[in-house]
Amino acid sequence: MEKRILGKTNLEVSTIGFGGIPIQRVDNEMAVKLIEESYNRGINFIDTARGYNDSESLIGQALERIGRDKFILATKSMKRDYKGILEELSISLKNLRTDYIDLFQFHNIRSFEELDFILSENGAFKALKEAKEKGVIKEIGITSHSPEILDKAIDIGGFSTIQCPYNPVERQAEEVFKKAKEMNIGVIVMKPLAGGAITNGELSLRFIVDNPNISVVIPGMDTLEQVSSNALVGINKRKLTVEEEEILREESKSLGSQFCRRCGYCLPCPQGIDIPVQFLMEGYYTRYDLKDWAKSRYDAMEKRAVHCVECGLCETKCPYNLPIRKMLKNVVEKLG
Ligand code: SF4
Ligand code: SF4
Repeated sequence: MEKRILGKTNLEVSTIGFGGIPIQRVDNEMAVKLIEESYNRGINFIDTARGYNDSESLIGQALERIGRDKFILATKSMKRDYKGILEELSISLKNLRTDYIDLFQFHNIRSFEELDFILSENGAFKALKEAKEKGVIKEIGITSHSPEILDKAIDIGGFSTIQCPYNPVERQAEEVFKKAKEMNIGVIVMKPLAGGAITNGELSLRFIVDNPNISVVIPGMDTLEQVSSNALVGINKRKLTVEEEEILREESKSLGSQFCRRCGYCLPCPQGIDIPVQFLMEGYYTRYDLKDWAKSRYDAMEKRAVHCVECGLCETKCPYNLPIRKMLKNVVEKLG
């Protein structure tokens, strides 16, 4: 497995890391197997979050059995204030069954105001700096869907890593990744398959690791097959052929720029609509030629796009600023 240095942290991370969102879907035994298989395949970086339900706990019990020292462990918190983030840090330590976390990140900073607040007197940065001085965390990182916010965070200083979505259809962070590399800041790539919108995972991962400014990419995995096939990308590094580049170009063209990444930040909808699933079904219907199947799945849902009352709440929460109401109308046009 190819390893790269995670910026100024000097930690040597595998180019393929373990993204901790989907592990919530498996039981304790399977979680252990997934982490064990990751280790056997050369993966040494795990990224999770306080917000991923029981992901931290599942990873924690697996690490207790496999060995905490086998992995570089990253987690993150949505808390922005001094007291709140310390409470979350202590929960993370307990869940992960460890007395230190290699990288503690600010989860999904969405605005310059939030960035300013975490750096203020009562903000969470001060708390993490103190935790770092005590050795409870080793490094402080920041995650965001906005390259502009990460660019500002780099200028401010104090962050050892940035984390942002990046894949063949979302390349807007390339400049900030370049800057991060020049400033010796580690670059962690989330959403390597654009939230599942990209169908060819292998090609997408190969595209990502081919970028020398990337330190580690963290595909989510909940099967042993996914662990072994994703790890292979870092083990047998191969450049994309002209034909493979063309496949990715075609996929990007069919997705356009306004598509749902299935992050779920827009939920819950007060009307009970599972918003990302509406777009998923519409994608199956229009792009993958699974019209009957998509229609029957859509019809079986109790709350569908057609039940949207256009309150607009979801749009205030979507990190991609998608015109969700307009997009749902399109779903209704296609699927009824
Ligand atoms: S605009 Fe529609 S989908 Fe969005 S929160 Fe309101 S009712 Fe739900
Ligand atoms: S609509 Fe936006 S917030 Fe909701 S899942 Fe899709 S990308 Fe995420």
